Amino acid sequence: MEPKIAEYARLAGVVGAGGAGFPTHVKLGSQVDTYLVNGAECEPLLYKDKELMRLQAGRVVDGLSRAMEATGANRGIIAVKAKYSDAIQALRSAMWGNMELCLLDNFYPAGDEVVIVHEATGRTVPPGGIPLQVGCAVNNVETLLNLSLAVQGTPVTTKAITVCGAVETPISFVAPLGISARQAIAHAGGALVRNPTVIEGGPMMGAVLQDLDAPCTKTTGGYVVLPTEHPLIRKKTRPDEFTKRIGRSSCDQCSHCTELCPRYLLGYAVEPHKVMRGLGMAGESVRNWALWSLLCCECGLCSLYSCPEDLNPHEVCIMGKHSRTASGDPPRPPPGLGRAHPMRTFRKTPVDRLIHRLGLADWDLPAPMVGDMPQPGSVRLMLKQNLGAPALPIVQKGSWVDRGQLVAKPPQGALGANLHASISGKVERIDATSVWLVRSTS
Ligand code: SF4
Ligand code: SF4
Repeated sequence: MEPKIAEYARLAGVVGAGGAGFPTHVKLGSQVDTYLVNGAECEPLLYKDKELMRLQAGRVVDGLSRAMEATGANRGIIAVKAKYSDAIQALRSAMWGNMELCLLDNFYPAGDEVVIVHEATGRTVPPGGIPLQVGCAVNNVETLLNLSLAVQGTPVTTKAITVCGAVETPISFVAPLGISARQAIAHAGGALVRNPTVIEGGPMMGAVLQDLDAPCTKTTGGYVVLPTEHPLIRKKTRPDEFTKRIGRSSCDQCSHCTELCPRYLLGYAVEPHKVMRGLGMAGESVRNWALWSLLCCECGLCSLYSCPEDLNPHEVCIMGKHSRTASGDPPRPPPGLGRAHPMRTFRKTPVDRLIHRLGLADWDLPAPMVGDMPQPGSVRLMLKQNLGAPALPIVQKGSWVDRGQLVAKPPQGALGANLHASISGKVERIDATSVWLVRSTS
């Protein structure tokens, strides 16, 4: 008997490619009425999803139809920015049956899961809940492309990424899993500045890379190369103690951070100015100082766009969430508005203005998809590339593997994902975090 679609996804190691890394076979095991493709790609400077929709629309649509079949969804919606006319044209040509497009304005964070559910269906995910609770499932473009390949028996061995910023040629390309940031940047012609610092992911939610040899995983979105002295890098690398000190001393409670917060505008109990007030007035020793941060989606907007004082309410919200988790208390957010804010439509943050505010206008260049990256000499496959448990190696040091061969799988019964070789070669090393492969030259 032919395996079910979810089983194909499990065998192929498909996980959410948009950043979450949630194992897709689990999502496909649920029943929903609406399946959503997240093609918003709202992070400035990243264009790989747009390029995948433009060049591989048939695959994306096939993946959507498989996901709809698996979950019983009778409506498939592809959410894409209205300005991407070439991608829209390609999708329209490929779509069939109960599929439709949701054309999004160019705002940030249009790709936040609860935002996209609201934009596409008008439904509001319950506070702290998931789209499944309102009959929806959401997957990134590349995840559904990978699902389409999985049904053909092709496992996940690559990742689409954009390399942009201060590089010779901003590009998007499909890379073997496990290449380093250094190799990816070299593929884009190398850095244009003498002192580059690299953000893995987008400028808003990405983190500053500490090690350029860190490997690309199934959730890597791209690499943004900037001069080390760029204000965005300086702000992202502020020490926590400094962040807290200036937060306590300089927050004037103007509440701009809250008034533009996308979660607050959807009616959730997220009010970063109150978290800043809690930090300054009550202090971290008080149990509920950060109660208004529990539903923060960590989009970064309040720190990088909204705050006129150049403070870090986003980072303070994260500290607050972690302190609450560490305390062992079950999170109990206060009641929010309970409905979308009446001014929400007018307070969406335009990506163009965000790019200027971030000081990235000079780096906002097209990053077209180029051919697949040549096979590298070596790769490092991280055992944890997904939500849940890390995979356990099933190969030995010194053994030979073919590209696409299973090299690690999750512990029995645990949430996790299979991991396959991204190049053909020899297992050079296995350690607690990774399987290292060296390419076969024969
Ligand atoms: S990071 Fe800031 S703007 Fe974004 S959801 Fe959290 S509090 Fe709101
Ligand atoms: S926007 Fe900045 S100054 Fe205003 S309340 Fe928020 S953190 Fe404080």
